[in-house]
Amino acid sequence: MSAVNITLQPRPQLDASVDHAIQAIVSGATTGQTCNTDLAAGPWDFDIRPGYGPGSSMGDVIPTGAPRQGELPREYREASEDELAGRIRAAKAALGERVVVLGHFYQREEVVTHADYVGDSFQLANAALEHPDAEAIVFCGVHFMAETADLLSRPEQAVILPNLAAGCSMADMADIDQVEECWEQLSEIYGDMDAEDAEGLVPVIPVTYMNSSAAIKGFVGRHGGIVCTSSNARTVLEWAFQRGRRVLFFPDQHLGRNTAKAMGVPLEQMPMWNPRRPLGGASVDALEDARVILWHGFCSVHRRFSVDQIEQARAEHPGVRVIVHPECPMEVVDAADEAGSTDYIRKAIEAATEPTTFAIGTEVNLVQRLAAEHPQHTIFCLDPVVCPCSTMYRIHPGYLAWVLEGLVDGEVRNRITVPADVAEPARVALERMLAAKPPAAPVADWENAS
Ligand code: SF4
Repeated sequence: MSAVNITLQPRPQLDASVDHAIQAIVSGATTGQTCNTDLAAGPWDFDIRPGYGPGSSMGDVIPTGAPRQGELPREYREASEDELAGRIRAAKAALGERVVVLGHFYQREEVVTHADYVGDSFQLANAALEHPDAEAIVFCGVHFMAETADLLSRPEQAVILPNLAAGCSMADMADIDQVEECWEQLSEIYGDMDAEDAEGLVPVIPVTYMNSSAAIKGFVGRHGGIVCTSSNARTVLEWAFQRGRRVLFFPDQHLGRNTAKAMGVPLEQMPMWNPRRPLGGASVDALEDARVILWHGFCSVHRRFSVDQIEQARAEHPGVRVIVHPECPMEVVDAADEAGSTDYIRKAIEAATEPTTFAIGTEVNLVQRLAAEHPQHTIFCLDPVVCPCSTMYRIHPGYLAWVLEGLVDGEVRNRITVPADVAEPARVALERMLAAKPPAAPVADWENAS
């Protein structure tokens, strides 16, 4: 099997491991700052506690009933990095083609090094499709990603999430009950949600970002809606506006706002829907005039980036090229030179022929890996504080070794299964996305990301 996305350089000059950087900071071996010294501990120290754990999402409120991970056996908790790497390699060798290991761009380097494929969530779900005979797909990412892989894989294939506590705080911000309640309230304003007006448009088309639960994707599928990624959000909004007067976009307000703004939708026609407030905190007039209703969700990793950081990068590195992810707040996207998906960022760096300084606004594991792979460039994270995605960070090599050795012993651990009644409409929403055509006219830089 070959990696489809990142082409790893044979001898990186820099250490790509964020964990090593954190350990060095916490031990005092290097200067630098991390957002929480607990990051130097093993994730099993947090699995039994409620919350997302230390890292960028630690301030977010975890929903009641979020999956918890049982205690990892002592032999995995106490094993050294080298020992775990050896055990993972041995288990993979024993399993051969029976298993595919997928590693998200934001995953720890110590895990990514064992991945057969590295990419974003949708690329990885598609990569798994290339192995219909594999018995197990081990998804080193977060919960919604494993669900998406389960939606797209064959029923007899087991999709495994090495640590059940690896959720996504943004995805958790759009709860299915809250979304159903929102839809009901909107239908009181707009009337029959299936009725077409004189122009053949229904009142609202729901659009969900890939970073959402299968339940939300199923909701969208049942109500004529569609899924989008950060690469195709504009194409998907074009699709939605051909069918509906408005869009209800969740869970990431920033991706929704940045995309719609680039399409010319005025900010005053993008009211926010806060599920904790009546009518989402918006007025009836604002909702009637709305073009895009933005769910009050965000990614705590990308919310850390600021205009001040961009100004500081420009002051310290004249000529720096600033690229940020569209999950960043609008002011940050506006202040950056470019904005685009993780794949866009990776390709932009690969395409640079002259030594260049890049300041990148996305998760630090990807940035540090890109810096190690491209020593001809200067690449750094816009945020000077080392603060990884706390949920991605829950996938420690100890968990990967545990699930792989379970498979060797004939035991499937941590299987993620989407119920059939949810899976069917969720697949419809995904299929609509795959069938949506890009706009005919060229668009701004970051919407061209593929
Ligand atoms: S980086 Fe943000 S959107 Fe991605 S998994 Fe982490 S919290 Fe979720």
